[in-house]
Amino acid sequence: MKSLFYFILVALASSYLVSAEEVRLYTQRHYNADREILAAFTKQTGIDVKVIKAGANELLSRLQAEKSSPQADLYISVDAAALDRADAAGLLDKVTDKDLTDRFPAGMIGQNSTWIPITMRARVIVYSIERAGKNLPKTYQDLASPEWRGRLLIRSSSSVYNQSLLASILAAEGRGPALSWASSVQKNMARPPQGGDRDQVRAVAQGLGELAVTNTYYLGILEKSDDPKDRAARAAVGVIFPNQDDRGAHVNISGGGIVKGAKNRAQALALLKFLTSKKVQYTYQKLTSEFAVVSGVEREPLQKAWGTFKPDYGSLHKLAEHHENAVKLFDLAGWK
Ligand code: FE
Repeated sequence: MKSLFYFILVALASSYLVSAEEVRLYTQRHYNADREILAAFTKQTGIDVKVIKAGANELLSRLQAEKSSPQADLYISVDAAALDRADAAGLLDKVTDKDLTDRFPAGMIGQNSTWIPITMRARVIVYSIERAGKNLPKTYQDLASPEWRGRLLIRSSSSVYNQSLLASILAAEGRGPALSWASSVQKNMARPPQGGDRDQVRAVAQGLGELAVTNTYYLGILEKSDDPKDRAARAAVGVIFPNQDDRGAHVNISGGGIVKGAKNRAQALALLKFLTSKKVQYTYQKLTSEFAVVSGVEREPLQKAWGTFKPDYGSLHKLAEHHENAVKLFDLAGWK
């Protein structure tokens, strides 16, 4: 009887130890796929993931407020600028583990090695196959041409996707061209900005305009939708990766950094390694249609249909620097 009592005690103690392993994650990502992927991590490692989801600014303020006593171990964002802002505020720890850092092409990791990429997305132009004509845009600059007056669909400037696009134009071309681009694009809009990226593609399919701007993975989401109207909307547009003869298509990354002073640093590192393993990278491509970022992962068939492209890695680490000015230029341009 006594030994049974001890047995139960030991069993309780060890189960307590196992469930005590955890990673506290602050994430801006809001996809169902993430829930599945994190559950697979817990299943494989026994490490629990406690998730808090919010916007980039809210998470950054929280990390800042908790600096002396961090309540998160890992910070994941969908914007390189937001990761760089966390780095600049001294909120992230260097990641030096070579088994992790060697997985990525040169130039993709945060410049101070405080964050690593997890997935990548490109911001592309789509056009109505039926009505856009033959003289299609080749660059972001072409969207500003008077030829497209009243024919372009693009979401609000409050979207971080557009803010980072304009920040990349600021980085590559300077303030004057960036402002005139935003003003002209604003004049070319088929309607006042409304809805998300998918709504712009749907609007092209409905005949409201001939061009739209969207992140690549939304094309995948539309293509796999249960709603036949969404599948038809995707089928009605062609995809253009802009600026292929110069800096490349604007890309942004979703990435993560370990919080400085994290209580569960080893577990956070294990999670980053899991998320950037080849198997999980392919799972991301399948489930969210985002691009894998580690070398040697083949694109999934749906992505191959978009075509290959040259990404603008050069601007990736300048987005934070130009972020604030991009927001101001949108205001000056009257882009709501
Ligand atoms: Fe998104």
